[in-house]
Amino acid sequence: MPFVLRVAVPVPLLQVFDYLPPRDAPPASLRPGTRLSVPFGHGRRVGILLDVGSDSPLPLDRLKPALAVLDPEPLLTGEMLDTLRWTAHYYQHPLGEVLQTALPVGLRSARLAPPGGERAWALATPATDATHASAPAKNASAAAPRAGSRAAQMLGLLARGPMNAAQLEAALPGWRSAAANLRRRGLIRTILQPATEMLRGRIAGPALTPSQQQSVDAIAGWSGAFTPILLEGITGSGKTEVYLAAIEHAIAQGRQALVLVPEIGLTPQTLRWFRERLPGTIAVLHSALADGERTRAWLSAARGQASVVLGTRSAIFTPLPRAGLIVVDEEHDASYKQQDGLRYNARDLAVVRAKALGVPVILGSATPSLETLANVEAGRYRRLHLGARPGAARVPELRVADLRGRPAPDGLAIESIAALRAGLARGEQGLIFRNRRGYAPVLMCRNCGWHAACARCDKPLTWHRGAARLRCHHCGAEQRVPPQCPQCGNVDLAPQGLGTERLEQALAKLFPGFPVVRIDRETTRRKDALDDLLTSIAPDRPGLFVGTQMLAKGHDLPNLTTVIIVGVDEGLFSVDFRASERLAQLVVQVSGRAGRALKPGTVWLQTHQPDHPLLRSLMRTGYAVAARTLLAERREAVLPPYAHMALLRAEAPAPAAVDALLQHAFELAGNPPGVTLLGPMPAPMPRRAGRSRGQLLLSADERSHLHAFLPDWLAKIRASAPARRVRWSLDVDPLDLY
Ligand code: ADP
Ligand code: ZN
Ligand code: ZN
Repeated sequence: MPFVLRVAVPVPLLQVFDYLPPRDAPPASLRPGTRLSVPFGHGRRVGILLDVGSDSPLPLDRLKPALAVLDPEPLLTGEMLDTLRWTAHYYQHPLGEVLQTALPVGLRSARLAPPGGERAWALATPATDATHASAPAKNASAAAPRAGSRAAQMLGLLARGPMNAAQLEAALPGWRSAAANLRRRGLIRTILQPATEMLRGRIAGPALTPSQQQSVDAIAGWSGAFTPILLEGITGSGKTEVYLAAIEHAIAQGRQALVLVPEIGLTPQTLRWFRERLPGTIAVLHSALADGERTRAWLSAARGQASVVLGTRSAIFTPLPRAGLIVVDEEHDASYKQQDGLRYNARDLAVVRAKALGVPVILGSATPSLETLANVEAGRYRRLHLGARPGAARVPELRVADLRGRPAPDGLAIESIAALRAGLARGEQGLIFRNRRGYAPVLMCRNCGWHAACARCDKPLTWHRGAARLRCHHCGAEQRVPPQCPQCGNVDLAPQGLGTERLEQALAKLFPGFPVVRIDRETTRRKDALDDLLTSIAPDRPGLFVGTQMLAKGHDLPNLTTVIIVGVDEGLFSVDFRASERLAQLVVQVSGRAGRALKPGTVWLQTHQPDHPLLRSLMRTGYAVAARTLLAERREAVLPPYAHMALLRAEAPAPAAVDALLQHAFELAGNPPGVTLLGPMPAPMPRRAGRSRGQLLLSADERSHLHAFLPDWLAKIRASAPARRVRWSLDVDPLDLY
């Protein structure tokens, strides 16, 4: 009987492809989840074997043999493979592309998976080997490094034997540049050694507070069964300690834990914390890693070697053969949603996986998403609560700085300036939050009203004064600042509104002699820059931080007592139905940076709308109550989480092509039961990077209605002529409707 291999190939097509086995492959090597190199079109691709059958819709003599089996052991099996199939269906995305997304980049090509073990650094020539040591290795460049330099220290360490990255990190911070240098000079090399369980001096954590202990006990009691848990703990209440204790419990039972953190949450401080506190190997997965490191981390989890996987969004696709617990920190964070390609939400997939694996999943936040709160309300999720900060730390007081009818020339209210001044005088730190980078969002001619705009997006260009550039924050276009108005010749071009750069300048002028550190995408390009900037003011020194929402998380700043929030009003009047939720989360998260240690904190909300119900509710009763009010409004308006949405987006240079596709899609839909179509309509941003953009929104009160409708409809759209002339995509559970 012939074998037919059904293979998922990473191409934007829904079907699975049939192949014959490679000529020399023993049948036992053909197991689902194994990567295969297959011929495809004129080239070859890496596909994943889904299953082995005995026939094909195609005549067998037309099937091509696969070229090679790439893995001795399948990479995606059991629960992981099932979850990925589910993901493909749920997000209506081709399975081949979903499986490829799940693999680390290093395994997407036909390279073999590196063997188990870990990378270590060793002397190129063992110190005792005289013949090699004296060989003229790349002549002068192999001269011994300067005594006392990092390179010399590293050679000294390695003379005692090979060391892995974690050991080097501990012994010689900043070792990587020394390693690169020594390797270039042929003095050291990297080797693979059996993974060493590092014998670290583990640091004991603080004694848990009673509510932390209760939470830990409850979670331990639920181990071994699917239990979704909201850990709702105010900012600074010590949710991390609860995670650590729960993870330790899982490890003690021989299980693995997967911990997801937001993009910005995986700081060196977090990492150090996990390494110091947990036993066992920790596999770290985030986008800044080199491909090889990512692959090794992924494999060490997939092979059951790592006890803990700590990573950002895409770490949700790590196989866990010994799963015991999943944790999603800051579960409300928008970075869990992938905004292109496979538009998955890692927070939601964490719950799906926990269910399939039969393990608890902890969703932690001080400001839970309305989706999660609705699940608690419906009794689907359990809720644990941490209502206070440990020790003497208190949640900061929230106050309003009323801007109505009062001058604020630098964008700062009189109260804000006074509060910052008083704090600095006491030797404390302040934080000024403004969610717009650059000097000013608009550069305008005072004479004729002309303003600089992006020709490809129809939006104002942001003036970056330091760089002397005008930049489009939507498409990245850049130009120099015109010396005079291109319309009337006037040289008096003036900034309108303010960004972080302008605030930084104003603060430096207002508070001479104090450091002002700006933190936004501009100043944090370099790896580790965020951490360096946050630690650039010593904890016991006064100073100011100004920046965007990058400041909402990260390093603990114990001496930070004053927070000023600038530009609140923009969030109060957005058309996006999630704007209020986002604003409430942001205000609470940014506020939560203050008063983390012994000194109390104060937060000033600058607004022209001091009586706005959302702000009043946040100040009087806090996030928990405000969020429940927002939730009631969503229910009333039949919006998510009380409705289930999918968004068909289309863009093309020609507006007519976009309209044609969306209109055609609308007609193809007919009158689907339980699904409402809204549109076609222009996207909230109708033009970006020279392309017209439109959308069609689908909404259903029952998810099953939506998913009953989508597959056939999309198949018809895919096959249609207008679909070939535009770029289009479907977003299931969209977070942003732009
Ligand atoms: P959250 O993530 O809930 O905002 P963290 O986990 O960052 O809060 O903890 C806030 C601070 O409180 C940290 O500095 C942490 O070390 C400290 N902390 C947490 N639990 C305790 C405890 N039981 N006793 C003393 N300090 C604690
Ligand atoms: Zn002009
Ligand atoms: Zn633009």
